[in-house]
Amino acid sequence: MTIFLKIWVNEEDYMTDQTEIILKGRLKGYQRMRLIKLLDMEYTPGELAIEVGFNRRQVYRVYMHQGCPHRRDNKRRLWINGKEFQEWYEFFYPRIELGKNEAFCLTCKKPVIMNNPHLIKKGGFIYWICKCPNCGRKLPRIIENKKWGK
Ligand SMILES: [Zn+2]
Repeated sequence: MTIFLKIWVNEEDYMTDQTEIILKGRLKGYQRMRLIKLLDMEYTPGELAIEVGFNRRQVYRVYMHQGCPHRRDNKRRLWINGKEFQEWYEFFYPRIELGKNEAFCLTCKKPVIMNNPHLIKKGGFIYWICKCPNCGRKLPRIIENKKWGK
């Protein structure tokens, strides 16, 4: 099972910039499938957004900040090569496979067994909160996301 953790709100107690960077911009399954179909040609952010199925602003707000490969022409317009974007995405957002009773620890950078998890329902999310058995970091695992996911 692949996790698609999205932006967390109101969870500052474990939220760090690092967490935010890794979680923001992660694509859903169907978007990933469309990513593979991108061609070795330049797209505008708007075209790229349509092809993959995300919001154009996501390019500016997330991917550009994270160093997505791009070119600016002499009119300052942004161009992104589809193939380069796909390769960059796969590198920057590696696929994380989680077992049924696992959560991903961002400190240990690997899936860990959920230790004494508590089920929490909050703000459209249903998720497990547990502690990493290796480092003790508080970890979420989203089960349902009514606010962001579809
Ligand atoms: Zn850990």
